Amino acid sequence: MTQAPLQKTIAHIARVSGRGYWSGQPVTLSFLPANPGDGIVFRRVDLPGRPIVPALAEYRIETNLRTKLVYQGTTVEMIEHVMAALYGMGIDNCTVECDACEMPAMDGSAMEMAIAIDQAGTRTQAIRAKEVCVDSTLRIGDDRSGVEAIPATGPCASGLELRYHLDFGPTSVIPSSTSSYVLTPSEFLANIAPARTFLSEHDAKELQRMGVAQHVTYRDLIVFGNDGPIDNTLRFPDECSRHKLLDLIGDLALCGARVRGTIIARRSGHNLNGRMAEQLLNLHRADQQHLSHVA
Ligand SMILES: [Zn+2]
Repeated sequence: MTQAPLQKTIAHIARVSGRGYWSGQPVTLSFLPANPGDGIVFRRVDLPGRPIVPALAEYRIETNLRTKLVYQGTTVEMIEHVMAALYGMGIDNCTVECDACEMPAMDGSAMEMAIAIDQAGTRTQAIRAKEVCVDSTLRIGDDRSGVEAIPATGPCASGLELRYHLDFGPTSVIPSSTSSYVLTPSEFLANIAPARTFLSEHDAKELQRMGVAQHVTYRDLIVFGNDGPIDNTLRFPDECSRHKLLDLIGDLALCGARVRGTIIARRSGHNLNGRMAEQLLNLHRADQQHLSHVA
């Protein structure tokens, strides 16, 4: 088996600012270098004592349409695009300071965060990356809606290959598509990070009727009406399944290690993705325990 690559952190501080989709609250994120082995940790600098939230699947709380972590009473939410940007750009260790609970929506994608990380650069660290190697098939959900992890073979045996099948049926206003990538920072930056979040006009109106996302317009994400995107143009024909891949990467990153394997998802959302991350985290911990016994 190929040796794990060396860990990486961000070389310089990177910052992005925006507003949360759900809360509308302004928020600034600062991506700070961190020590080898620290992993990804959020820090709420707006709260007394600046409490931290480690980005691990065990602190995930099931929530509708977003990923939320709670650690010792401190919450961070809508973290999936931040996590995807870090994992996608190959960062193992980073402290993400934030001055609000909800991460910034930006344009509905991870593009601005990925560009900020890319411009800040990465620094290679002296120890090998934590890896979780999928050595037998894992399944969450069912054939209609689920996530499967299978052992990698061939050219991506030392990395992560991802495939997402999006299909809401023939009557949905959201078009079906499939996207598939072997993940590298350059592939992520060019083809996955720019893919924006989306929903149907019906769901958008329902959310606003419930009083959330009042400030969000048709330009802040993709809203599909009967004739396609309203007041907006797709960046890629398969932008929706690419965005679902982005979400999948961000959620899987909560396993706290680089994943070696092939992940195939069908119509999965954050909760199914998060449950797969929990399985991968458990697999990683079992591997670590086995190694420490062997040693
Ligand atoms: Zn998303």
